[in-house]
Amino acid sequence: MKRIIIAIDGFSSCGKSTMAKALARNIGYLYFDSGAMYRAVAYFCMQNGLIEGETINTSELQKRLDEIHISFAADPETKNSLTLLNGINVEHEIRTIEVSRHVSQVAALDFVRERMVEQQRELGKQKGIVMDGRDIGTTVFPDAEMKVFVTASAEVRAQRRYDELAARGDNPDYNEILENVQQRDHIDQTREVSPLKKADDALELDNSNLTREEQMNWLIETYNKIITGC
Ligand code: C5P
Repeated sequence: MKRIIIAIDGFSSCGKSTMAKALARNIGYLYFDSGAMYRAVAYFCMQNGLIEGETINTSELQKRLDEIHISFAADPETKNSLTLLNGINVEHEIRTIEVSRHVSQVAALDFVRERMVEQQRELGKQKGIVMDGRDIGTTVFPDAEMKVFVTASAEVRAQRRYDELAARGDNPDYNEILENVQQRDHIDQTREVSPLKKADDALELDNSNLTREEQMNWLIETYNKIITGC
């Protein structure tokens, strides 16, 4: 059967990665989380003193970009995708609120995006992948056969992120998360390079009031229609 590229874009904390992962598992595709790559770069900056307060030392980051190697591996027990920064598993570290606070600024840098997009396209060469992010259908894979643009209200998204952090034992603050979600939406939509927007040929999915099962049924149905029409 023909293998395609599935691009899932949308706002922060829309449940894109949970959805993309489940879809990939269902149809036997590989899943790639492009946001994790930007998070890993932000984490590298934090670890290496390249962020002071709200300021990123962009010239130093640009010089040190070659030192940043991001790869993915499967957790041997859970089979979940793990993000490796220079060979070290940073999956937990890149999900903290501190990284969330800086990541959109790092992701707005043109030289960072250029490097990440290059690596993402490399991953897409094999086809049979689901990748989620902000610019996958518009910039990374403009020819992706299936494009989905996911939306939900900021409050619903903040609550989901809150539940996720609480479930892993953190002590989250709902208002801080809501503020972070709104701030990232703003930076993502207004940045100069590859701003977050729906590709003209993407299908919109508002999942504010959908159960995971309803959402998965919609995705599989859409995928089947595209595959049989290809
Ligand atoms: O998807 P996630 O929320 O983990 O992504 C973290 C951040 O990385 C986003 O808020 C966005 O600023 C940035 N990002 C991006 N382009 C992508 C994926 C993520 O700019 N393709």
